[in-house]
Order: sequence, then C-alpha cells, then structure tokens
Amino acid sequence: MSKTNDMVTVYIMGEAYQVPAGSTIISAMEYTGFQLKKGVGCREGFCGACATVYRERGDYRIKGGLACQTVVTDGMVLTQIPFVPAEKPIYDLKTLTPDVNTIKLLFPTVFRCVACNTCTKACPQEIKVMDYIQALKRGDIVRAADLSFDCIRCGLCALRCPAEIVQYNAAILAQRLYGRYLAPRSPELDERLEEIRQGKFAGELNELASLQREELSKRYYERTINLK
Ligand code: SF4
Ligand code: SF4
Repeated sequence: MSKTNDMVTVYIMGEAYQVPAGSTIISAMEYTGFQLKKGVGCREGFCGACATVYRERGDYRIKGGLACQTVVTDGMVLTQIPFVPAEKPIYDLKTLTPDVNTIKLLFPTVFRCVACNTCTKACPQEIKVMDYIQALKRGDIVRAADLSFDCIRCGLCALRCPAEIVQYNAAILAQRLYGRYLAPRSPELDERLEEIRQGKFAGELNELASLQREELSKRYYERTINLK
C-alpha cells in the first residue's frame, strides 16, 4: 500500500492504516481509532509526555520525536517500546553542596559519558544535552542548569544513550542546586511572594480558579507577554 490522494500509509504495531497526509502521529493514531489515554499531555510540544520512536520508509535509522509535533510520512513505522527505567536518586537538597562531589554521589553514570553526542541529536528541544552532561562532569552546575533549562523531560536522550545516563534527571538536580545555592537572590521576587502571602492577588487567583476551561484557554492565548 502507498499514497492515495491526500492519504498516506503508516504501520502501527505491524498493521497498515491509511491516514490523512499532514497529520501528526497523535492525530493519525486517533484517526485510525486508537484512544490515547496515556503518553499524551499538552499536545503542543511542551510537556514531553508523547516521546515516540519511528522509522521512515527506506531509512535504516530509528528516529525519535514528540508525537504531537512529528508529521507522519508515507511508509512510517510506529511501534511501542518499553520506557527507560530512569535512575532517580532520592536526596535532601539541604544536605548537598553545589559541586562535582554531589554529581559523583548521586549520578555516577554521568562520568561514563563517551561524548558521542547522540543525546543532543535526539533532543526535540535542540538542547545541547552532551554539553550539559560535560558541564556536570566538571562540576559546573551553573552551566548545566543554564543549558538544560528548556528540557521537557521527554526522555528521548536517555533512550539513545550508550552509557545509560538519565540526562534529564541529572539536569533537574543541577537546576535545583542552582536555584537553592547559586542563583542571585531577587529582592523583587521576595517582595512579590510576600504580597501573595498577604493575599494581595487572592481575588484574581480565585477568579482564575473558578473559570471554565474554554475561558481560561482564551485568556491564556490572548495574554500579553512583556519580555522587557
Ligand atoms: S548519548 Fe550518553 S554517552 Fe553519548 S554524549 Fe550523550 S550522555 Fe554522553
Ligand atoms: S534533554 Fe532529553 S529529556 Fe530533555 S527535552 Fe531533550 S531529549 Fe527530552
């Protein structure tokens, strides 16, 4: 089977389906009748829940992407694979130091990195994953936190890592260490938090909490973002 008019053929768990060309993987699967209750979140490329692997016709390589953002191609093959058992140590941030000793203690796998750059190539957010792992190896927490800031924890980097490093959890540790010990303090933030504690914005927050989803969504997309 191949392309007919505006339809393309995709293979899901070995079965061929005709789906509209231009569909994302999620919308193509729903078109065929799958009800996706897990592994789907925001559908807009932000939450990282729908990390997916696939092959394309005639291409040896296994590719990865977010199913809500990746458009199907004719002959695409989709299959389900088990998720990565992510190394996730339990720690008390108050007892840690923001340096390489903490990385050695909690994420010793980081030091197995062979600098192959596969993780960076796999990342749908175009994050320099290998670079933040290298920063962690040097104990440069500030750099690691900065480089990994846009991580959405989709897990595609860990899925491909030959050293079995769970990059995104190591990144969370770096961001927490940065936030607690290294980030410059902001008097403006302290002031705003105090205002929230004193109920200055309680009226607005209660109003938002009472809105129906459609109205909330409308306000979100119509909001003004002041980047200054
Ligand atoms: S995929 Fe793993 S081994 Fe390769 S650069 Fe990334 S962290 Fe290092
Ligand atoms: S760093 Fe890893 S977990 Fe984070 S967005 Fe990139 S691929 Fe996904």
